[in-house]
Amino acid sequence: MSKARGSDNLRRDARLRVHPSTARWCCPRRCAWSAPASRGWQLRREGHGVTVMEQSGGDPLGAAGVHSSIYASVRLITPREIIGFSGFPFYPRNDGRRFPAHGEFLRYVRDFCDAFGLMGAVRLNTKVLRLSLAPGDGDGVMRWVVRCAKQGEDEGEVVTTEEVFDAVVVAVGQYSKPWLPTINGMDKWSRRQLHSHSYRVPDSFQDQVVVVVGFHESGKDIALELLGVASQIDCLCEDGQVVFADGSGVVADAQGEKYDYSFPFLDTAGLVTVDDNHVGPLFEHTFPPALAPLLSFVGVPKKVVVPLFYEVQARWVAQVLSGRRSLPPVEDMLRAVEEYNRARDAAGVPKRLTHDFFDLEYCDEFGEKRCGFPRLESRLEWKKELLWSTVTGMRDDMESFRDDYHDSDLVREGLRSQGWLNGRAPQQKDQSGTE
Ligand SMILES: Cc1cc2nc3c(=O)[nH]c(=O)nc-3n(C[C@H](O)[C@H](O)[C@H](O)COP(=O)(O)OP(=O)(O)OC[C@H]3O[C@@H](n4cnc5c(N)ncnc54)[C@H](O)[C@@H]3O)c2cc1C
Repeated sequence: MSKARGSDNLRRDARLRVHPSTARWCCPRRCAWSAPASRGWQLRREGHGVTVMEQSGGDPLGAAGVHSSIYASVRLITPREIIGFSGFPFYPRNDGRRFPAHGEFLRYVRDFCDAFGLMGAVRLNTKVLRLSLAPGDGDGVMRWVVRCAKQGEDEGEVVTTEEVFDAVVVAVGQYSKPWLPTINGMDKWSRRQLHSHSYRVPDSFQDQVVVVVGFHESGKDIALELLGVASQIDCLCEDGQVVFADGSGVVADAQGEKYDYSFPFLDTAGLVTVDDNHVGPLFEHTFPPALAPLLSFVGVPKKVVVPLFYEVQARWVAQVLSGRRSLPPVEDMLRAVEEYNRARDAAGVPKRLTHDFFDLEYCDEFGEKRCGFPRLESRLEWKKELLWSTVTGMRDDMESFRDDYHDSDLVREGLRSQGWLNGRAPQQKDQSGTE
């Protein structure tokens, strides 16, 4: 069944110059990691009407419905003191560890949504099938047609709808299209091969010889977990050729750069493309110049502090949409993208890592410059130190860094001053968005 709605059915708000009534969003209820809650929150704070469409229904392991990349044993690799939304610290609930299991983070995201009443805007089990420019209304204003599929009332029934929105924020994450390395013999090898995207629990690897290809965080985690059940593990990086001999299973780790960006629903007539895992052109990894500001992307950058960076992006988008901030002219944005790409190329950064950067200073500057987001003040310098010591700890000993760490005086003082060492603190509701 298909239902078409005209743009006059949109909820409108006379206070706003441009009124985005939707954001393509990921679902805070389901995903143990997602930052969508804060994106909806940022748009709401700016006075926009928001509709969030999320294809899944609520299970982070994807046992029912949509498959996610979360395996059962996932524990955060980022300290809880850093990973929360601004103004809403990730204080302990059920799992008090600094690096808790994914369920604790899901709980936190739910608390966040409840505290700010966000779930009313979220449509679960709603998959965006197509996103394209609406035929002109004769008023010269760009709008978007969003076609969605939703589970109907009868079992197996799928209802398709089309709606027109003023603006769309694409926030589908980075983990839906696994990227597999090309390894000689892979196509002929008859035993089990799976990407970490499909890995859930170690049980079925009992007594097997497993090769973990790729040694990033997930690869290390999975290898450590398989040590408990498998008879032998070889961990290989994918740069050499892996000749499969007598092994009976392969887990190909594909965390980080081992996923490809994927926007199969997006129809922009070639104005936004994905080429060698480079999404572009995107001004500051967020706005495609020719379609800005009514189309934007939140969550494309990798190796940034999450969800903080995405929250900053969302705030910027919200402010641009309400007219509080303006974007440079299209030509200037395109030039800036080209300059960025040239500089990365000159620095020898492969194209597929265009959106990867681990640069805290850049993140700070980005927030301040684009949307007035407060820099990490010197009183919060301890957070940077905590982050760095975590990165070092992880590099030195993946197995123990989450439970065996030693904070410096600076970090301890910072934790104390922010209420982290005073036992279980209540979740705070701070609409100011700052800590
Ligand atoms: C195993 C694992 C462990 C991780 N551990 C950490 C960690 O410890 N610390 C950290 O900072 N980061 C970690 N990350 C990264 C973190 O998960 C991401 O940075 C974060 O989830 C990004 O949030 P997001 O909202 O942009 O995307 P996601 O959380 O991926 O959410 C995107 C949502 O969009 C939905 N969607 C996709 N397509 C459609 C469609 N067509 N229609 C409707 N909905 C759609 C998806 O169902 C999904 O719910 C980890 C990632 C993985 C895979």
